Amino acid sequence: MSAPERLDHFMARANAAYYARENPFRDFTTSPEIFQGFGEILGAWVAMVWQSMGRPTQFILAEAGPGQGTLMTDALRLLSRVAPDCRAAHRLHLVETSPRLRAIQAGKLPHATWHDRIEDLPDAPFILIANEFLDALPIRQFIRQGSKWLERHVQEGRFFDLPASCPTLSRASTTSDGTILEINEPAEAITTHLATRLQTHPGAVLFIDYGPEKSAPGDSLQALHHGQPANPLENPGTADLTAHVDFAALSAIARTAGTTVHGPVTQGRFLTVLGLPARAQALARTRPPREAAAIVQSARRLTTPEAMGTLFKVLALCHPALPPPPGFEP
Ligand code: SAH
Repeated sequence: MSAPERLDHFMARANAAYYARENPFRDFTTSPEIFQGFGEILGAWVAMVWQSMGRPTQFILAEAGPGQGTLMTDALRLLSRVAPDCRAAHRLHLVETSPRLRAIQAGKLPHATWHDRIEDLPDAPFILIANEFLDALPIRQFIRQGSKWLERHVQEGRFFDLPASCPTLSRASTTSDGTILEINEPAEAITTHLATRLQTHPGAVLFIDYGPEKSAPGDSLQALHHGQPANPLENPGTADLTAHVDFAALSAIARTAGTTVHGPVTQGRFLTVLGLPARAQALARTRPPREAAAIVQSARRLTTPEAMGTLFKVLALCHPALPPPPGFEP
């Protein structure tokens, strides 16, 4: 029998194998793949933030986990049309570990430079966007048993709990028996790193992901295989493993590191304030009726509470001198 493996180590190994080998977009779909208006709206957001940064003649436009490169392709097309100066100023940097997805991204965004880690991005004014990136990073899970915390490990497709030692456990607001606590250490390290960069460079970070507004205990680990929930502990590398993003924890970390935090707001509110429904209507008017209805339907999927409008949240971290970015005004 193999030795128990800590859950985050298991999840990192499983997702690295999964993104390297499989076509993730057969198992799940993401906002930019649902409607082109998503990337276009984010392109407009980038242009407005770039304005508020004082229109630097060069800046890093970065995306973490760009998938098939769809979001950035849509964003750059929008910039060409409405903000050519911003488009001319951008230097595109993509953070992607999967060689398979890098090749797909290179087909659409040949002028990009690739990095394995956010920490490797060059030091300069920057705007970074990450959609459904943090949820794929490995989490640690702890379970309360009596007066102790145990850390969840994986062995032969099942959980195996061992005595825990982790300083962040002191954050726990509840210690009742059976409570499950999740910690996404890479997401916390990335947030600290970006917040520190924002001390020295004008810029902004936009995280879009799913998770509650307030930290909530519980097991949110899930696996999707061909659109269906699967057992996350079985057959590592064959399904996409994700967990809810703890926006409250990341906000607190960013504030402590001295950056300004806006949100989280719901994806529905963010996209609606920035004009996604109007964009859908405008596009629909140029298409035959059946296609037009599909466009409006796709846009609704991104904004309605029953679909992705409420579960998905948007969080911005900004250089302290920047005004609240679009979509976060009080
Ligand atoms: N943002 C895209 C794709 C989301 S899927 C979209 O919205 O469609 C998650 C993406 O993050 C994939 O591109 C995956 O290869 C990448 N990824 C996952 N873990 C990563 C890691 N540790 N470092 C860098 N990229 C990672």
